[in-house]
Amino acid sequence: MTTRRIHNFNAGPAALPLEVLQQAASELEDFNDTGMSIMEHSHRGESYEEVHNEAIALVKRLLDIQADYEVLLLQGGASLQFAMVPYNLLAPSQKANYMMTGSWSEKAKKEADILGQTYSGASTKDENYAYIPVFDQIETDPEDAYIHVTSNNTIYGTAWQREDFERMSEWSAPVVVDMSSDIFSRTLPIENFDLIYAGAQKNLGPSGVTLVIISKAMLEKSTSITQNVPSILRYNTHADKNSLYHTPPTFAVYMLKNTLQWIENAGGLTAMEAENRKKAQLLYNVIDESNGFYQGHAHPDSRSDMNVTFTLPSEALTDRFLQEAKDLHFIGLNGHRSVGGCRASIYNAVSYESCKALRDFMISFQINNQ
Ligand SMILES: *Cc1c(COP(=O)(O)O)cnc(C)c1O
Repeated sequence: MTTRRIHNFNAGPAALPLEVLQQAASELEDFNDTGMSIMEHSHRGESYEEVHNEAIALVKRLLDIQADYEVLLLQGGASLQFAMVPYNLLAPSQKANYMMTGSWSEKAKKEADILGQTYSGASTKDENYAYIPVFDQIETDPEDAYIHVTSNNTIYGTAWQREDFERMSEWSAPVVVDMSSDIFSRTLPIENFDLIYAGAQKNLGPSGVTLVIISKAMLEKSTSITQNVPSILRYNTHADKNSLYHTPPTFAVYMLKNTLQWIENAGGLTAMEAENRKKAQLLYNVIDESNGFYQGHAHPDSRSDMNVTFTLPSEALTDRFLQEAKDLHFIGLNGHRSVGGCRASIYNAVSYESCKALRDFMISFQINNQ
């Protein structure tokens, strides 16, 4: 059987590694000689529990975190975390500090506003979120309940850079990071973060499972805040039960486990980061060398290696670009409506070959249309 795989630049749900899909296909009817698929196993049975625990172990191995953090596998997407974070970490006497770098940050803050007090120590809305705040200009307060950061701004194509993450150790409040669109794409100083969350459907697997990594210190602190919070919305409920408090999304966890295995086999986060940098550079070079035909939305020092956003000289050319791209089996290149133009999402599973093919197409499109 030959498969014709498309060049998939979808923003999320997004491309999955071919090997991971093939493994799922080959194990679909009979997982590990059990005569049934992993989806048909009890979540209390040995077969599933092994998958579940290996997924958690892989997260810990890839991030090199052991005793100080709990890894939780939840549901509800990153959007439920927008609410769970303040439910668990925002005490009535405190304020949560949101770094406003895009509409996902806005949505996160909006949920916290319903539950308690917040403010923004930095915002880059003035330029339609085309850049990341200058670190020294960010306002923080040691009394902040937490400081919330969106590490990669999926819609705008900006990302906090490594030096910023290093300097977050200077902040004397806990740091919470929405890593939905760049988790496991690069190495980061995890010890500077108290809580990380990510919906799986960009870099980790299919939609349906949400990864939460929380420091034991934050878990402990949350016990005094969650007295009036329903059990299912408390991090401690899930931590106490190894994320088996209720039925987990078993198939999504299985896919997550296989995707993490694929990352580990490929050389882990250092290898992912090097490959992702090379892929992104291919596209940014075209933009930078196009004499303004392609305009990047993100300021160069704030660029994301996951989402490359750019516009063309006119709407008519954008439409033509997208139509020709589609004819050549490139999909998912239309930009988000709040930025316009185009966006290539090049998560871990998008190959260098796909990025090279897109680069070649962008160059020939410019030659034919300027
Ligand atoms: C996609 C995305 C979300 C929303 O994720 P859901 O799982 O759909 O709730 C939140 N934050 C960021 C940065 C995202 O890219």
